[in-house]
Amino acid sequence: MRKSLPYGVPMCSGKESVLCFLFRIRDENNYHKKLPDMYQHLFGPVPSRRLGMSLGVDLIPHKICSLNCVYCECGPTTRLTRERKAYVPADEVYRELEDFFQKHPDPDYITFSGAGEPTLHVQIGDVISFLKELRPQIPLAVLTNGTTLSDPQVRRELMQSDLVLPSLDAATSLALKKINRPPASIQPETYIQGLVDFAEEFQGEIWLEIFLLPHFNDDEDNLNALKKAIFRIGPDRVQLNTLDRPGAVEGLHPMPHERLEEIAAFFDREGVEIIAAPPKRKESKAYRDDVENAILETIARRPCTLQDLEKLLGRHMNEINKYLGVLEERGEIESVEQERGSFYQLKTPPSG
Ligand code: SF4
Repeated sequence: MRKSLPYGVPMCSGKESVLCFLFRIRDENNYHKKLPDMYQHLFGPVPSRRLGMSLGVDLIPHKICSLNCVYCECGPTTRLTRERKAYVPADEVYRELEDFFQKHPDPDYITFSGAGEPTLHVQIGDVISFLKELRPQIPLAVLTNGTTLSDPQVRRELMQSDLVLPSLDAATSLALKKINRPPASIQPETYIQGLVDFAEEFQGEIWLEIFLLPHFNDDEDNLNALKKAIFRIGPDRVQLNTLDRPGAVEGLHPMPHERLEEIAAFFDREGVEIIAAPPKRKESKAYRDDVENAILETIARRPCTLQDLEKLLGRHMNEINKYLGVLEERGEIESVEQERGSFYQLKTPPSG
């Protein structure tokens, strides 16, 4: 009879597999005791570049999304869908939130994000209402790819939030297909119109994120079309971002800073900014040395993928990604491409 390890992974025998190794060192290190405050649907608070100390609420299992962006830090989309449903039970989320706030101080923000598109959860509006009753003083942000905003029901459900950070990387069909790889039903016109309609109805702030990659969406046609779309949407801020973690496909390169500055100037409007570099995250009060140390100890034993670290440390991949960004920027770790994806390892100092 085959026995199973946690997470439904079959128990292996004979030569130690990578997964067996991962579970063994997890147990040896007893990370669950070291890092006790773990939830199924909450993560952090994490040091967020844009929102300070932010508690993450993740309503979508990895990795259900309406887009399959080449740069996605969480890996390829395994279920590309626009279907809205109760992907996780809202009651569980309520229980975890109540528990969290009984035990922890208030974060700067509560942010709906995760390894998928949060507005695909059909009860996101209920969870927002619940939080507005439970902790009305904490501002509430929603990170969304923006594709669902063409649905008036989704727009209504987000009305009680304080800040919405939608993405729009492409305003032409060609660039959209290249960088976001959407299902055929998502077209730039309806995507942008959804954002325009939302901006007209929403009373809170909108920070539009544009993720830029050389040769994917920096062509003249797309930049011109994006400029027009930005004008129509009229967001409070436009935030230009580029790669700082390995994406869902290999061989991507970040947009050079000078080019980001050129594009920011081309958009020619107030409120366009290039998102700050990752080292600043270390200065955040939410930065946890125990999480950083657990990552370093783990990859010192053997290089790990992001998914390996998530399983081993029992922490959300978005949270781990934040720390990997800081460690990589500080030159303590590096990523190497292998068959199973990007592996993180300690950086070997140059010899001599
Ligand atoms: S980056 Fe966001 S929108 Fe794009 S595939 Fe990943 S989770 Fe989905």
